[in-house]
Amino acid sequence: MKNMRAIFILLLILIFSANTTFAYEIFLPKEKKTIMNTNYAFFIGKTNRDVPITINDERVYIASNGAFSHSIKLKNGENRIIIKSDYKTQIYKIYKNYPESYLNPELVEFEPQTYIVKKDNTPLRSTPIDYGMNRISHLFEGTNLLINGSKGNFYRVMLSKNKEAWIQKNAVEQTSNNVNPKFITMNSETFKNASKHIIEFTEKLPYTIDETDNEIIFKVYNPVASEDSVYTINIRKPKNYTYDTLLHKGVYIFKVSELPKPEKRTLEGLTIVVDPGHGGTEKGAIGCLGDYEKDINLKIANELKNILCLMGANVIMTRECDGNIELDDRVKLAKKNASNLFISIHLNSIPDVKFDVHKNKGTSVYYYNKNSKKLAESVFDSVTNELNTRKDGIKTASFAVIRPTEYIGILIEVAYMTNPIDSILYSKPEFPRDTAKAIAEGILNYTTTEE
Ligand SMILES: [Zn+2]
Repeated sequence: MKNMRAIFILLLILIFSANTTFAYEIFLPKEKKTIMNTNYAFFIGKTNRDVPITINDERVYIASNGAFSHSIKLKNGENRIIIKSDYKTQIYKIYKNYPESYLNPELVEFEPQTYIVKKDNTPLRSTPIDYGMNRISHLFEGTNLLINGSKGNFYRVMLSKNKEAWIQKNAVEQTSNNVNPKFITMNSETFKNASKHIIEFTEKLPYTIDETDNEIIFKVYNPVASEDSVYTINIRKPKNYTYDTLLHKGVYIFKVSELPKPEKRTLEGLTIVVDPGHGGTEKGAIGCLGDYEKDINLKIANELKNILCLMGANVIMTRECDGNIELDDRVKLAKKNASNLFISIHLNSIPDVKFDVHKNKGTSVYYYNKNSKKLAESVFDSVTNELNTRKDGIKTASFAVIRPTEYIGILIEVAYMTNPIDSILYSKPEFPRDTAKAIAEGILNYTTTEE
């Protein structure tokens, strides 16, 4: 009898320890009962790697550290998803309500009418959609526009005979004032490391900025006068440059500045913003191991700050601890300090719409403006070579922190938190320092390379 009791206790201990050792943990989806209007549901978690797991009878790949991620195709209505190992079975119920099919709104054309831009920094776009790489310029409050059509939430803006653009309807208001803008003057001045270009009208008018390989082309349009009323300044591009557009009353001041050239192998004279992505309640991506992107971003950023300071740079951090900071405030901080470079640090995750979670791994570097492409390339090369991550690519994206032209901005996605193999890399203790060193090397190569 006593023996039986001992055996029973032993059995209990065995079952208990087996459960804690071998049971898997799921970090995404967060809820067992949830609604997802995506084509795939995405599961990430960790387990003991010797214990196989299936999700709806599909065998799950498990990395050597126990991390896994797996996608399941969803059908409309209720989806029962069963996650099974020898030690634990869990059922997730995911409801999919397919979103209303995208309606392509009709174009309505009308006689040109005058509108006024309500706020500074209003995007003028090449297509009537409010995302992507379609921003032509950022208009100033009080800019006069001629509008002659509408599509969905957008108005069509007349710029010249060959150029039209789109602006969000709620960003403008119609005016009954009859404006008749007149050209006053146009001139350029060249300084040692900068040039200043002025175009003056009696009223505020729309502008665009284009770039070719060698030139920046600044244009102001006066469609009220005629379809050909376009005022153009062609500016030769310096090697590494930033630019800034100001509008006061009807006067545009467009300034192109050359990046300071530091002494060989230093970053002296440069102000660099280091921006650890997310923070506070904004946790960023969640990893296979249940860890948060915001914490890893901060570790890398702190290491990077130290290295850049040692190289002589003036470094500004957008956050030094785990707190919330708005994207807009990060940009303002950089502009207020006349920063030359902006380095935003992130780790990646895949959107729920992608099926093959295992293909999404490695490093990508994003830029928005052409003036930031070379820095993106240099940091990408350095990071992928030093960390030996998969070359996910140098890409463009419309992220708020890298859109300003007053500094050279890039956003690095060092690795995918949702990829089990990448999770081995980013959980190593030396990862933040190695990453920071590689980013710093990329910056140094960019600023000191002679052409
Ligand atoms: Zn992020």
